[in-house]
Amino acid sequence: MTRLHEVDWNNLEFGKYFTDHMLICDYADDAWQQPAIVPFGDFQISPVALALHYGQTIFEGMKAFRMEAPSGGEVINIFRVEKHYNRMALSSERLCMPVVPREVFTDGLRRLVELDKAWVPRMEGSALYIRPFMIATEARLRVKVSSSYRFAIVATPVGAYFEQPIRVKVERTFVRAARGGTGYAKCGGNYGAAMYPTQRAREEGYDGVLWTDAKENRFIEESGAMNVMFVLDGVLVTPPLSDSILDGVTRDSLLKIAERLGVSVAERPVDVEELKAAFACGQISEAFGTGTAAVISPIGMIGIDGVDYALPAPGKPGVGTRLKEMLEKIRHGRETDVENWNFLVK
Ligand SMILES: *Cc1c(COP(=O)(O)O)cnc(C)c1O
Repeated sequence: MTRLHEVDWNNLEFGKYFTDHMLICDYADDAWQQPAIVPFGDFQISPVALALHYGQTIFEGMKAFRMEAPSGGEVINIFRVEKHYNRMALSSERLCMPVVPREVFTDGLRRLVELDKAWVPRMEGSALYIRPFMIATEARLRVKVSSSYRFAIVATPVGAYFEQPIRVKVERTFVRAARGGTGYAKCGGNYGAAMYPTQRAREEGYDGVLWTDAKENRFIEESGAMNVMFVLDGVLVTPPLSDSILDGVTRDSLLKIAERLGVSVAERPVDVEELKAAFACGQISEAFGTGTAAVISPIGMIGIDGVDYALPAPGKPGVGTRLKEMLEKIRHGRETDVENWNFLVK
């Protein structure tokens, strides 16, 4: 295992190095057991653990940053702990998994980050990426709801993302999520099912897909594993939340920041035809994915039914960049945290 002094801080590959410790909390006999912080290492798991066969697995992805304490000195800020906890609870319910107690989640994060805080990187744009997750551990080959689970938290230092605009293809055949499905849950199965269409898009020269709705393949839903936003006629437009769209913490944060900056916001369905028309008359100025990993991932090209439409090259910093800058300032304590998003750890 890589130790702290061996990490190449200038070339952090996402999810390659893990901090010294992890938190584990098991669920058995209808109750959550005592959480424990242990050295990072492999789990021992039955080959017939239900998670491995039937996909009862969920996760979260969040970040911690170094920040100047309001009282001077340095603290670590874990961003939007509560919203991530609530979403994990929602995912748990959808997958018939027990909800991890709020204190186990919150205190676990605090203790783990405090203990491994030397791993929170210092370079601009970098962060400690934190991955809470839960798997079904009961050893049984029959399809059933597991009676035992393991909740765990691991963390990995990540560097700044280089914002190379990506090329995406509007996906009209395959779907990520349908009404009544698991799209709003952060569960492993959603990712497994998205790989094939994504690979096909890559073979066609795109970086990923823009998912459309399962019923008509007509309304934009998400960009790969990110939420998606457009700037149409100066208005920040994003599809409304539904059971087929993940309630992204970054999406929510950027929408609130947009309001704070006086940017007009519309949460409404985005028809693929509307996008085509907007390209035709030059009304679309920006498109970007939003998520914890990259904050915003600019889209440079959208492929619609075999035609590639290029987004205009940004002249001055666009709406996306302004929103991202404000978000970064809040997370590093350089702008007031009016919404109480920051969770400070010593
Ligand atoms: C995690 C995720 C997002 C982004 O959510 P954030 O909370 O902003 O990181 C968007 N869409 C999908 C499908 C996701 O899994």
